Amino acid sequence: MSIKVLDPQTVSRIAAGEVVERPASVVKELVENSLDAGASQIAVEVKGGGAALIRVTDNGSGIIADEVELAFGRHATSKLKSADDLDSILSLGFRGEALPSIASVAEVDIITCVADEKIGTHLSLSGGVVTERGTRGRSPGTTITVRNLFRKIPARLRFLKAISTENSHIANVVSQYALSYPEVKFSLVIDGRQTLRTPGSGKLADSLIEVYGVAVAENMLELESETDSPLKITGMVGAPSVSRAGRGYLSFFVNRRWINSRLLAKAVEEGYHGLLMTGKHPIAVLNIELPTTEVDVNVHPTKNEVKFRSEQLVFSSIRRAVRQTLAELAPVPEIDSPAKGTVFSSPARSQPNLMAVSDVGYREPASLPTPATSLPVLRILGQLDSSYIIAEGPEGLYLIDQHAAHERVLFEEITLKKSQNEIEVQGLLEPVTLEVSPRQEEALSLRYKDLGQFGFNIEPFGDRTFLVRAVPVLLNGKDWMGCLRELLNFLSGESGGDWAEEVSKSMACHSAVRAGQVLTDEEMRKLVRSLEQADNPRSCPHGRPTMIHLSLGQLKREFGRTG
Ligand code: ADP
Ligand code: MG
Repeated sequence: MSIKVLDPQTVSRIAAGEVVERPASVVKELVENSLDAGASQIAVEVKGGGAALIRVTDNGSGIIADEVELAFGRHATSKLKSADDLDSILSLGFRGEALPSIASVAEVDIITCVADEKIGTHLSLSGGVVTERGTRGRSPGTTITVRNLFRKIPARLRFLKAISTENSHIANVVSQYALSYPEVKFSLVIDGRQTLRTPGSGKLADSLIEVYGVAVAENMLELESETDSPLKITGMVGAPSVSRAGRGYLSFFVNRRWINSRLLAKAVEEGYHGLLMTGKHPIAVLNIELPTTEVDVNVHPTKNEVKFRSEQLVFSSIRRAVRQTLAELAPVPEIDSPAKGTVFSSPARSQPNLMAVSDVGYREPASLPTPATSLPVLRILGQLDSSYIIAEGPEGLYLIDQHAAHERVLFEEITLKKSQNEIEVQGLLEPVTLEVSPRQEEALSLRYKDLGQFGFNIEPFGDRTFLVRAVPVLLNGKDWMGCLRELLNFLSGESGGDWAEEVSKSMACHSAVRAGQVLTDEEMRKLVRSLEQADNPRSCPHGRPTMIHLSLGQLKREFGRTG
C-alpha cells in the first residue's frame, strides 16, 4: 500500500467528526450558539433521530448580513479576539469550529436577522459550499436548519444508533441546558411531538419539574455553599428517597457550561455516603461558579470536560455542600438492624467460620457427583440470619440464598408464562401516574405496548406522564413501581442486551422474597422444591450463585478427620 496525502475536503470531514459525533452534538453546538447570542427563547425541532432534520430557532442577537458567510468559515468566531482571551472565556463557544464542521457534513440553511437591519439574510450550504444566498423577512434572531446529516459519509451514518437512542441523546442535551439556563424558555419537538417545554421563569425548580417530573422535583433540596469561598456552588440535590438505579442523573455546570466530570460525580456520591442503598445513585443539579482563571475549558474537542486548577478544593467543597444540605434538610434514614428478632437463629460467632469454609466450598462445584445444573433432593434443616436456607443433601451441606434462589425460580416461571401468554394481570383500583424524564419518555413510548405481555398495562397520558392501569399479579402488593423505574433506566440507558430478558429479571427481583424475611418451614420447602426443578438452579438471573455447597469430604478435612 502506498502512502497518500488526503485532500483538504477529506481532512475537513475527519476533523468535523470530532465535534460532530452524532446528531446530539449538532444540537448541543447550535443551542450553545443561541445561548451565547443571548436568546431568551430557544426552540429545537428534530426528525428521524436528528439525521433527517435538526432545526434550532432563537430570538438572540442574530448575525449581521455581511458576516453570515464568514460565520461558516473555519476558525471564524466573534467570541475570541486573541489567544489571551482563552484564559477568560465566558461564552460557551470560542473556537469558531462548529458551524463549518456541521456545514461540511450536512445541508445547512440559515435565516438570521439583527435588530437594526430591516430584513434578514438567508444562506444555504451543501457540503460546506454556499449554494444559495438571499434575503428573508424574520424577527430578530437566528434559525439554523441542518438536513441529511452524514448522508454523504456512510461510515459515520453507520455509527448512528437507533432513532430512539439518538432522540434520547438529543433530549438529554436540551434537558441539561434547560436545567442550566432556567431563565430561557426551551422547547423540544421530536417528530412532531412536544417532548419538553420549560417556562423560562429563572427558577431551577421549574425546569426540574419539566425535566424530571413533579414527583422528583418535590423531593429536591436546595443547596448553597458558604459564601466566603471563591467557589460558589448552587443547585439542588435529591433527598435519598428519590435515588435512582443508574448514574445518569447528575448534572454539572461550570460557569454555566454543561460538563461531564468523574471528579464531581465522585464528590457528590461521597456526600451521600451511607445514605443510599448499594446500587442506588443520587439525583443532583449543581452549578459551580468560579473565576475563569481557576478553570481551563479548552481541554476537550467537544468542550464537555474542563480542568480545575485546584481539584482538591472543588472536590471537598462539593462533597461538604452536598453533605450539609442532606444533613440539614433530610432526616437520615434509620438502618434496619438485620439481627432484630433473629438473635437466636444467627449466632454471630458461627458466621466468620462458615464464611471461611464456604468460600473454599464454592470453588468446587464441578467436583459434585451430580451434573452441575440439576440439584439433588434436599432436606431442610433451618434458616440462618433470616436470609439463608440450610439444607442437607446426599453430598453434604447446602446453604441457599433465599432471595437469589427465589429470583431464579420466578425468572424461569415468568419466562415460561410469557412465552405461553399466561402472565396473570391485576387491575389497579385507580390508575397510578408515572412521571418520566424526556429520555425515558422516548424509550417508554416505544415499549409500553410490549410491556403489556408482561402484565403491565401502561398508556401514555401526555406531558411526560404515563398511566399504569394494571400490574402483573406476581408484583401485586410488591414494589412494582421500583421494578418499573428499574426498567425505565434500562430502556432509556445505553446498555445493550435483551430487553425482554431484562423485564423478566427485574420482575423476578422485585417479587422475590428478600434477605431478612423470616420463612416458615413450609415456605422453605416449597422454594427448595421449585429450585430443584429449575433449569439452572445454581445461579440467579444476574449470575450470582444461589447456593454454596460444603461436601462431606470438605467437612472432614476442616474438622481434621483424616481417613
Ligand atoms: P463559536 O461559537 O466557537 O464562535 P461557531 O462556529 O459555533 O463558533 O459560530 C461562529 C460564529 O457565528 C459565532 O462566533 C457567532 O458570532 C455566530 N453565530 C453562530 N450562531 C449564532 C446564533 N444562533 N446567533 C448569533 N450568532 C451566531
Ligand atoms: Mg459555537
